[in-house]
Amino acid sequence: MYRKAVSVAAIAGLIVLILLCQILGTYLKKEFRAGQEAEETGAALTEPTVVLDPGHGGIDAGKPGINGVEEKEINLKIALKIKELLNEKNIEVVMTRDTDDRLADSQREDLKERVAVMNREKPVISVSIHQNSYHEENVHGAQVFYHSQSEEGERASAMIQECLNELQPDNEKKIKSNDTYYILKNTEVPTVIVECGFLSNYEEAQKLSSDSYQEEIAVAVAEGVFLYIEDIRQQTDDDA
Ligand SMILES: [Zn+2]
Repeated sequence: MYRKAVSVAAIAGLIVLILLCQILGTYLKKEFRAGQEAEETGAALTEPTVVLDPGHGGIDAGKPGINGVEEKEINLKIALKIKELLNEKNIEVVMTRDTDDRLADSQREDLKERVAVMNREKPVISVSIHQNSYHEENVHGAQVFYHSQSEEGERASAMIQECLNELQPDNEKKIKSNDTYYILKNTEVPTVIVECGFLSNYEEAQKLSSDSYQEEIAVAVAEGVFLYIEDIRQQTDDDA
């Protein structure tokens, strides 16, 4: 009789112990996750990273300019200027390329590599820099593209477009969603493509080839990116 009572007590004790362990485990897991998320958001905003992606490179020159310039060269020059401006604001920048070389031998692999950098670095935003072209010479003006499923991409696009339109007062272009561009389709982070202007328009091609106008474009894009980061910071503060 006595042995039976001891066994029952032991089993009951064991059950209580298991339950306590489970409750403690759940509590610790919850605390750990909350801490981790706070750390991630905090790090993303106190030391934000931006990926800058100058389109094309190497044997892929991009769109040919009506004045003989090559798109790849203008993309790189503008992107390097944006990098400098963002660095001045303590924003870390990862470039997908900072030389003339593209990232792989085929265009497909090159784009894949660019997306891999964006997904790996987990930036607050990725910005691809390109120049446009059209068969009608009078078409001009910068335009920013985003994926239709990316709310953040759309928000960032609007801020960058507004800054560009201030620089180009006669530009009536609006942000546009695009679900076919490889980069927009395959990134897991907010991503935008900035088409700074049309190389098929002589006047704009000439401007885009000049160092001073490249600087002005860079200032506008960097300002838009900075406004976007500030906006996320503000939202995070409001949520806290
Ligand atoms: Zn391009």
